[in-house]
Amino acid sequence: MRRAIVSDIHGNLEALEAVLEDAQAQGAEEIYCLGDLIGYGPNPRECIDIAMDRFKLTLMGNHDQAAIFDPEGFNQGAERAILWTREQLESRGNPRQNERRWEFLGELPRRHEEGDLLFVHGSPRAPLHEYIFPEDIYNRRKMERLFQMIPRYCFVGHTHVPGIFLESGEFLEPTDLPGGEFRLPQDQKIIVNVGSVGQPRDQDPRACYVILENGKLTFRRVPYEVEKTIEKIYRIPALDNYLGDRLRLGR
Ligand code: ZN
Repeated sequence: MRRAIVSDIHGNLEALEAVLEDAQAQGAEEIYCLGDLIGYGPNPRECIDIAMDRFKLTLMGNHDQAAIFDPEGFNQGAERAILWTREQLESRGNPRQNERRWEFLGELPRRHEEGDLLFVHGSPRAPLHEYIFPEDIYNRRKMERLFQMIPRYCFVGHTHVPGIFLESGEFLEPTDLPGGEFRLPQDQKIIVNVGSVGQPRDQDPRACYVILENGKLTFRRVPYEVEKTIEKIYRIPALDNYLGDRLRLGR
């Protein structure tokens, strides 16, 4: 079974459509999403609709949760984007479809386990909120604790920085891997950050996701019409222009 694992779409429809096309061309039969469908980007409703129709699994991310409940602990720009997103989900369009989206978001699971694979948005310890950054490899206590909590292989998003944490203490960037490919090791646990579809933060503006099949994973980078998304963001006063500018820079 060839599976695409995506995360952190953040209402970026152009990036999501480009990734879906790429995943299909790669022969992906199922799509798993590790959360944050919305927040920051200009097309929350369209991205939720695609998730409802096409994703086999969607987990809840911290931005999804904040849109349904109350935003807490976000910076001002992110908070304004969340409140604007909520308004889009509450007031515009067909009330029945609004309700469907609302129910779908409210029922998203926080974690999903399948054999030796664990899927979460942030971390196995605090699925919605904890970040695992590349520099955390220097925090042995944190990483040891996280590795204790996973069956064998764990897939996360949340930081928007793709790469692989090895139990032995290393962090591998996708550019370290020949062809972006990596074989799941038999002798140690790993945590894979699949990167972000809609707001990459590793200085590469292309959408990022992972293909998983038969113990092999591949990081994919997909160009999309960044300027089109930026234009939409500029036109919405509640979304800071910075949210567009950062897409161009991949940060
Ligand atoms: Zn995110």
